[in-house]
Amino acid sequence: MSKTLTGVKLDIEGIRKEFPVLNQEVNGKPLIYFDNAATNQKPQRVVDALVDHYKKDNANIHRGIHTLAERSTAAFEDTRKVIQRFINANEAEEIIFTKGTSESINLVASSWGRKFLNEGDEVLISTMEHHSNIVPWQLICEERGATLKVMPINEAGEIVIEELDGLITDKTKMVAFNHASNSLGTINPVKVIVEKAHAVGAKVLVDGAQSTSHLEVDVQDLNVDFFAFSAHKMYGPTGLGILYGKRTLLEKMPPYQGGGEMIKDVSFTKTTYNDIPYKFEAGTPDIANVIAFKKAVEFIEEVGKENIAAHEKELLDYATAKMESIDGVKIVGKAQDKVSVISFQVEGIHHFDLGMWMDAKGIAVRTGHHCTQPLMDHYGIEGTARASFSVYNTKEEIDIFVEALKDTISKFR
Ligand code: PMP
Repeated sequence: MSKTLTGVKLDIEGIRKEFPVLNQEVNGKPLIYFDNAATNQKPQRVVDALVDHYKKDNANIHRGIHTLAERSTAAFEDTRKVIQRFINANEAEEIIFTKGTSESINLVASSWGRKFLNEGDEVLISTMEHHSNIVPWQLICEERGATLKVMPINEAGEIVIEELDGLITDKTKMVAFNHASNSLGTINPVKVIVEKAHAVGAKVLVDGAQSTSHLEVDVQDLNVDFFAFSAHKMYGPTGLGILYGKRTLLEKMPPYQGGGEMIKDVSFTKTTYNDIPYKFEAGTPDIANVIAFKKAVEFIEEVGKENIAAHEKELLDYATAKMESIDGVKIVGKAQDKVSVISFQVEGIHHFDLGMWMDAKGIAVRTGHHCTQPLMDHYGIEGTARASFSVYNTKEEIDIFVEALKDTISKFR
């Protein structure tokens, strides 16, 4: 039992029991899984939903009139409604299933960009973007003759808001940035940036890969035009993403891919397209994963977003204080507002070595540039080690991790 900042007692032991993968030894030590920003673990109910679907209901969706097809279709479309409610979209048709955050962003860059970006226009991203929110914009800017600009960050890893007025101008057509940074943990002030972007008529895409399992997300309140996220970072299956887009924009955008489901009528001379969201869902979607994802959302809602956030904040503060007291440890990313991500370097030890030593002690941390090479360049470093916490992690695990870190440092010296 642990008391969270919300005052609600979370039964962490009970929660851990829902995650069978946590109950194992790695290299002879109990697994400590601190790689949650890369992907978090799946509760039993998500695994069961996948198995149940294949055992009982498997059929292709939308086009069938037989019972299994109807069951599959109903369950699939039910998840769409669950997600609509979860992020407070205005309507279920504004929820598009993709392969992940990356594909969601590629969809917007490609489809919206081809229609609305022209020579001389500007797309603004931030210094702390994941490659998935850089490269699609580079590609479309190159194709359309537009320019990619970058919002600066300060030493702590926060966007320098005071500089935005000079950067967001009437040339700006799209502002794309993450809600929370996977490398630094920084939570960005979405509403402030949205307001500035909308004031010049620019659209806003928010990469929510790192926020949806930690923070309240209300797309109408945030007033974002597009919001992209991945199921696998929310206790859900891998290979499934979501794109939220405002109906008015989605309707004006051309299809992203051609194929089944996205058409109304096809002839060799002309094809007319389906309505949203199907216009953007070519081919057989990831039916089983979509259906199982509903159970992940159910898990989050049952535990409570606020309680998850409070527990993770407690872990973040606890670990940060302990790590800061270790000689030679430097935390990269010290924003005021952070999700539970700690990137760090240890003087004299390469992050890859650190990661291997941690693994030998049963502790999973991520090492490298975390798909944010320009951000690493900004700090003049090659990479970091990164510990990221989820609702099932504990202070006891952090104690073991900190001792392992100290032990590794002493061995290297
Ligand atoms: N953006 C951010 C901030 C991320 O953390 C990630 C995943 N590391 C992505 C985008 C890409 O997500 P996916 O690999 O699920 O497409």
